Amino acid sequence: MSGLPKVELHLHLEGAAPPTFIRGLAKEKHLDISGIFDERGNYRYRDFRDFLKVYEAATSALRTPGDYQRLALAVLEESAASGVVYSETFVSPDFCGGRDLGAWREYLHAMQEAADQAERQMGITLRGIVTCIRHFGPEKARGTARCAAETAGDWIVGFGIAGDEKIGAPKDFRWAFDCAREAGLRLTAHAGEWGGPESVRAALQDLEVERIGHGVRAIEDPALVDELAERGTVLEVCPGSNVALGIYKDFREHPIDALDRRGVKVTISTDDPPFFHTTMVREYEELHRAFDWDEGQFRKIARQSLDAAFCDADTKAKIAKKLEA
Ligand SMILES: [Zn+2]
Repeated sequence: MSGLPKVELHLHLEGAAPPTFIRGLAKEKHLDISGIFDERGNYRYRDFRDFLKVYEAATSALRTPGDYQRLALAVLEESAASGVVYSETFVSPDFCGGRDLGAWREYLHAMQEAADQAERQMGITLRGIVTCIRHFGPEKARGTARCAAETAGDWIVGFGIAGDEKIGAPKDFRWAFDCAREAGLRLTAHAGEWGGPESVRAALQDLEVERIGHGVRAIEDPALVDELAERGTVLEVCPGSNVALGIYKDFREHPIDALDRRGVKVTISTDDPPFFHTTMVREYEELHRAFDWDEGQFRKIARQSLDAAFCDADTKAKIAKKLEA
């Protein structure tokens, strides 16, 4: 499984920061964030609340475009080591320049430099999805959407929403999503992770997204499962993340297999891998163990993921060749 070429669609750039990288950065900046690591050097947290705090402390070390360039490179090294050949990552003008367009362009340029280098040296292709942060509210999301619209193109290919699912409603963010859509960006939204099936319905109806981040709790509503299958809505499923945060007890209890059997287009991603002690290889291994998924199944999912990718047709054709190899 580890050697299979993989496509990942749901990865938060800051959340994918290797702990060793963050420790090094903190040391350079004389920041004391030693409390967020355990004795083995991994991120340490007790529950979801605590996870958010640790996440925030870790990302406080990221302050300049140069930091993001190094971050992107460190993350892509990890992904490439797992056999990922194409990845889409969530990036946010909220963390990169505070929604100032000029500053955002500098961060973006730095991340693209890293992506170009990784493509040349490691054969992995990266694209960005701008995300607004739900708990920052609709007004800030407008600023984020404007940055996304101004920089939409070959590299920024999508727009989404992350953050606390329990705050606000998707319809509050309609302006931001309309702005991104008009700029030609493809759309996704986190839903159906902490929120139930109704949150998935709301994202589909109010934001007209074509992909859902997580979406797994759709399983609680059979009619919605049928609807997702009929519409061909793609779920960016992150099983290890859901298990680590206690939404499901273990991989066997995770609905990814049931959703797949009922015709929903599922994909596999790691979300914030070092926080959940996972990698794409580990996701594959756990799914193989839990559901006896074989190479054919993983290859089907990789193709499904590439079909759902937001990049242009030329890039897709290039990656498709790598999947066939
Ligand atoms: Zn996520």
